[in-house]
Amino acid sequence: MKYENVCEVYEALESTTKRLEKTRIIAEFLRKAKVEDLPAVVLLLQGRLFPNWDERKIGVASKLVAKAIVLTTGLSKDRIEKEWKKTGDLGTVAENLVKVKSQATLSRHELDVKKVFENLRKLATLEGAGTVDRKLKLIAELLTSATPLEARFIVRTILEVLRVGTGEGTMRDAIAWAFFEKEMGFMYKEEDIEVEDRERYNRYIGAVQHAYDVTNDFSAVAESAKKDGLEGLDKEAITVGKPIKVMLALKAEDIEDGLERVDRPCAVEFKYDGFRMQIHKKGAEVKIFTRRLEEVTSQFSEVVPLIRSHVKADACILDSEGVGYNPKTGRYLPFQHISQRIKRKYGIGEMATELPIEINIFDIVYHNGKSLLNENYEDRYAILKKIVKAEKKKIGLAEHIITDSKKEIEAFLQKSLKQGNEGLMLKNLKAPYKPGARVGHMVKLKPVLETLDLVVVGAEWGEGKRAKWLSSYIVACKDGDEWKEVGRVSSGLKEKESEGVTYEEMTRELKSLVVEEKGRSVIVKPKIVIEVIYEEIQQSPSYTSGFALRFPRIISVRSEKPASEATTLKQMENLYKKQKK
Ligand code: ATP
Repeated sequence: MKYENVCEVYEALESTTKRLEKTRIIAEFLRKAKVEDLPAVVLLLQGRLFPNWDERKIGVASKLVAKAIVLTTGLSKDRIEKEWKKTGDLGTVAENLVKVKSQATLSRHELDVKKVFENLRKLATLEGAGTVDRKLKLIAELLTSATPLEARFIVRTILEVLRVGTGEGTMRDAIAWAFFEKEMGFMYKEEDIEVEDRERYNRYIGAVQHAYDVTNDFSAVAESAKKDGLEGLDKEAITVGKPIKVMLALKAEDIEDGLERVDRPCAVEFKYDGFRMQIHKKGAEVKIFTRRLEEVTSQFSEVVPLIRSHVKADACILDSEGVGYNPKTGRYLPFQHISQRIKRKYGIGEMATELPIEINIFDIVYHNGKSLLNENYEDRYAILKKIVKAEKKKIGLAEHIITDSKKEIEAFLQKSLKQGNEGLMLKNLKAPYKPGARVGHMVKLKPVLETLDLVVVGAEWGEGKRAKWLSSYIVACKDGDEWKEVGRVSSGLKEKESEGVTYEEMTRELKSLVVEEKGRSVIVKPKIVIEVIYEEIQQSPSYTSGFALRFPRIISVRSEKPASEATTLKQMENLYKKQKK
């Protein structure tokens, strides 16, 4: 397939904001694509080169891309930078300048999807001496053969800012739609689907979702849908060693509300303030993943022998919370402390003694060859109880009771808080495990004031003492596939390293995410999630969310939380309404 065909789809997607329309465009395209092109095409349409669970990253800075444009077009660096300032988007710069250039020379080769995909993937795997130069060459080589339109999208893919709005939900529906249609043999408009057909369509959506839940990779899902239809999708299974998404919780207003949501009686557990650890064991091999599906086995290598000796199973996938504690007093420490361990690459051994963690296991999703996703929570828990041997302050099951008594839950909550935990989790005894979903099979009960998890989408250089840092952050909430700004926040980070996350650290991280610079401000890729406390949510026309925060302050950097799980606009609206009451 020609890469140009993919670019035409990008353009079509860009021209509409309607999700249904986008779904239709993608579905039609996938249906026509050859099976051998499908994996690359599905990833490219999402602006990705690797599936979710894959650790490889493109890792190319805007500056290098600008250099590649210089090299390709032969135009001056100044000219490129001027255009970049003017349009704010290097993709458009590449498009415009390749246009100018290609009128002068005609040295194009047609670009094939495979070639583009492979070259882009190479960017992520190059290592060692001369890497930067080799990356530069690879990009320039692609741009030299590209049409203006292709140049725009090659650059945006490299910078991971595709902006055509193909979120997970759209991709799921499009794959279902594409292959549902194939079965029916003609093109549907969604509103035309007859009731019995709609059931079939929903069955497809469920199957695509299941396959995605266990593989975290739409390219594999599309391929198996195309090859083997529903049967192929249903057969996709959990692989030990490959992370799956974790189940998420809803929030309960109070104990009564919690009980209503999960039915009585329910399981009640401490909500530890640590980080989610998905632990895979296959024989003696142990791997640990965060909820962002990043592998952290080497950072927590002391956990590996512990799992071997304390978990009796040939193969299993456990869901747990690792909590840090003070080795002298034994008291739990807030998440911020162990977050240092997640990032640490050196001196891991020392860290393990200074900041030990306790593993609190609370669920199991796979056991000795069998997926437990569709088993009841109480049946999963029974297996867990049989296979885990507890050892104080090292590993064990989360503190757990089964009850329907409000009084008992209240007492358990007080006990949990006293030990330095965040609150409680209430769990439905009869519910299956839904990866990646916030469906209310478990709910959290936290007594403290609600904070927001907002994503940094831009920043500004400080003044005076703070001039060397990006010290004011533009934060946004999530609205479908879009980011809606909620305001600026500049207080709460630290100036000295010993006190917590510093402005310097934040500046370093943000600099690697810059996609656009304008004067003293930058626009960054939406990756960093910060927890923000505030006095009040106000209505405001100044920001795209329609809201602004009074006296916002950063209370933590949520390095374990992916941007896709940030506070949503809907949640902001609810908080606003609640506050008015
Ligand atoms: P929060 O900001 O409240 O931590 P969150 O968005 O990080 O919420 P939720 O899924 O809403 O995550 O809340 C549940 C989280 O609590 C889990 O992701 C897990 O990391 C943690 N947790 C601590 N103890 C438990 C437990 N016993 N059972 C389930 N989750 C637990």
